[in-house]
Amino acid sequence: KKSAAQQYVDSVFEQLKQKNSHQVEFLQAAEEIFISLVPVFEQHPEYIEHNILSRIVEPDRIISFRVTWQDDQNQVHVNRGYRVQFNNVVGPYKGGLRFHPTVNESIMKFLAFEQIFKNSLTGQPIGGGKGGSDFNPKGKSDSEIMRFCQAFMTELYRHIGPDVDVPAGDIGVGGREIGYLWGQYKRIRGAYEAGVLTGKQPGYGGSLARKEATGYGLVYFVEQMLLDANETFEDKIVAVSGSGNVAIYAIEKAQQFGAKVVTCSDSSGYIYDPTGIDLEVLKEIKEVKGDRISTYVNYRPNAVYTEGCTGVWSIPCDIALPCATQNEINGDSARTLISNGVKVVAEGANMPSDLEAINEFLNNGILFGPAKAANAGGVAVSALEMAQNSSRISWTFDEVDGKLRNIMKSIYSESKEAAEKYGYAGNLVVGANIAGFVKVANGLLTEGV
Ligand code: GLU
Repeated sequence: KKSAAQQYVDSVFEQLKQKNSHQVEFLQAAEEIFISLVPVFEQHPEYIEHNILSRIVEPDRIISFRVTWQDDQNQVHVNRGYRVQFNNVVGPYKGGLRFHPTVNESIMKFLAFEQIFKNSLTGQPIGGGKGGSDFNPKGKSDSEIMRFCQAFMTELYRHIGPDVDVPAGDIGVGGREIGYLWGQYKRIRGAYEAGVLTGKQPGYGGSLARKEATGYGLVYFVEQMLLDANETFEDKIVAVSGSGNVAIYAIEKAQQFGAKVVTCSDSSGYIYDPTGIDLEVLKEIKEVKGDRISTYVNYRPNAVYTEGCTGVWSIPCDIALPCATQNEINGDSARTLISNGVKVVAEGANMPSDLEAINEFLNNGILFGPAKAANAGGVAVSALEMAQNSSRISWTFDEVDGKLRNIMKSIYSESKEAAEKYGYAGNLVVGANIAGFVKVANGLLTEGV
């Protein structure tokens, strides 16, 4: 017979499915978290009594708007913009903006929902939000990107603020886009409210080490996982997917720690470089030229480029770091990784492993670092950027990097301890979900209905 906690979680999930039957990514993210929370509701009947789960899974508000912009040929285009303000119990809404053709309400909601617990786990005063547009930045000129960012902010500005909602970057939104968004916000608002956006340029309100933070943080998190297994990065073979900001700086830090990173990828294909990815070449291609990853072989003839992006998981490795996008590892890819001897998987992207893949890793004794813990370094340093903006000071690179490393260490230990406390020792998925959730749930109780 099902416990009262199980019945409660099942019934909230059933209602959620009925209300959001087409939002597959949002339901997937919710299901993963809900399963983890049953032991919490068993020990905290007050959460059931106050219907905490239904209150957390319903966004505070979803803003959806038209963005009209003109291309270089004066053609007028229309895109949809979103901002999901999911939960502000722990602090102002906080989360990135994604510009990608796949963006829709389901993807925005899954990302914002994950962000609540991730942000809570960082220990920083930030709530959960996310936004973006189905605008496709691929192949757009610099002026087109600028005009799109300005048009996007012309609507978004009225919904955000340093104490209200603080966007940052995500897929398709980097330093350049944040610069254009910030310029437009400042123009309209008529005030230098630096804390309204994070990921700004250092020297103009931005924090040193923010660009590196997600990738470095991921590696600092894995450092803790390895330490617990009496291991280090030294001489480990690492497979990384993606070639954006997260991937590049995960590769950089893993290499600094003595690992050999042999892969990276984009949405068209992946690179296998058996002698180790040349980071200078990778940065030249992505950060300077803005080219496709296939051009890597022009610089490094011994490397191999293969079309298709799931193939990257067929390369044997000790540590796999998915840093591309959601659902890039399914059950089959997980089984291939396992049979090739992978020992650690940690998620740099948001929800890169589907539920079947996660279960494969956990059931086969693979050390698994879930996204909301392992990739929280980016948003953690965003919170440090907000702190610097509020106090009008800037910390050195080493100060920020040192704080980041400590934050990742404590996210790891809190996730590990929460898993142990609720009877799931070694399961960081359950641990991260519970540790992130409990802080938000207790905050909701103190606020009243
Ligand atoms: N988009 C990143 C994330 O998923 C960073 C968000 C932020 O810095 O606000 O955590």
